[in-house]
Amino acid sequence: MKIAPNKVVILHYAVSDSEDTLIDSSYDHQPLAVIHGTGYLIPGLEEALTDHKAGDKFEVEVAAENAYGERHDGFVQTVPKSLFQGIEDLDVGTQLRATTDEGEQTVIVIDVQDEEITVDGNHPLAGIDLKFDVEIIEVREATAEELEHGHVHSEGGCGHQH
Ligand code: ZN
Repeated sequence: MKIAPNKVVILHYAVSDSEDTLIDSSYDHQPLAVIHGTGYLIPGLEEALTDHKAGDKFEVEVAAENAYGERHDGFVQTVPKSLFQGIEDLDVGTQLRATTDEGEQTVIVIDVQDEEITVDGNHPLAGIDLKFDVEIIEVREATAEELEHGHVHSEGGCGHQH
């Protein structure tokens, strides 16, 4: 069976940047289970899976624009520390939820001054070209319930909170 919209795809992947630094891998834990065509995966990877079948192993390079997008300098903002009253440990690297013009998003503290902090709302992988090693474990039809829920069920049913 070939991978096409509304098929369940179970895959292992290892993703690295253009300098072959490993960023993440599913081989350390469970394979990833997704319904193809739902936009759960980054666009470049989802597109590359199409028409593959169980047992296929391949490598795919995904440019930043088809992965987590380009970096936007406008997402870096310096704001008064007083906006984050009650939050301790405001160090470089701290992740915060912030309300922005684009809605709720996660920002990372990249600089801390006496009265101000600078936060970056870019996805940590924005602007990075990625390389995936992919291994297709299984391809099967999605059940009606899986399509309704928009995610893959393991044996025994949903097992998720809805
Ligand atoms: Zn479910």
